[in-house]
Amino acid sequence: MKIILVGGPGSGKGTQAQFICQKYKIPQISTGDMLRAAVSAGTPLGLKVKSIMESGALVSDDVILELIRERIQQPDCKNGFLLDGFPRTLAQADGLAEMGISLDYVIEIDVSDDEIIKRLSGRRVHPGSGRIYHVTFNPPRQNGIDDETGEPLIQREDDQVDVIKQRLEVYHQQTEPLINYYADKASNDSSMTFASVAGTGSVDSITRKIQQVLDR
Ligand code: AMP
Repeated sequence: MKIILVGGPGSGKGTQAQFICQKYKIPQISTGDMLRAAVSAGTPLGLKVKSIMESGALVSDDVILELIRERIQQPDCKNGFLLDGFPRTLAQADGLAEMGISLDYVIEIDVSDDEIIKRLSGRRVHPGSGRIYHVTFNPPRQNGIDDETGEPLIQREDDQVDVIKQRLEVYHQQTEPLINYYADKASNDSSMTFASVAGTGSVDSITRKIQQVLDR
């Protein structure tokens, strides 16, 4: 099963990815998490992308495509994978198609800009696992602490309001065109499903809507 989740920053892709990946036993491939891991480890890649990420701009397509090319060759990807935060541009989508990947599902999670700003400013992350919480909508059992490991949660640098607005602009300009791209592709290819799911309401209700798409 090969799935792409498309949606603005804070649309809930990462949260929903966790449920899908557990259920279908496929790895969650988040380019954002991979880049953040490189930044915290201080690798040459991390040093190169740190300021770009902090500004809310996109890392170059070449760098991202190389990361994905290597990642999907790993043995845990043999039964499929879920891509979260990739592709982000038409050039990345074309690059993925050139790798010969045949997708089963592309699911858009649709959320308004105002809602995204509310969500991201309250978002907290467990850096080790990528687990995501929200101070109001999905709080951990203990304030500021990851449920599974007991380690501290952090707020991402790019979850500051001015950076969120920049990320939304980048999303509308560079990533939103992928929705038509994949909708068109799906209408010409019966092996692939495209669906758009409203990303508002409880986490569980959105999960159920995604499940209905995957059951089709
Ligand atoms: P995310 O966690 O997916 O919101 O990604 C955080 C940041 O990492 C983005 O704002 C970009 O700077 C960078 N990034 C993540 N994925 C990509 C991608 N597919 N293409 C370009 N930049 C990316």
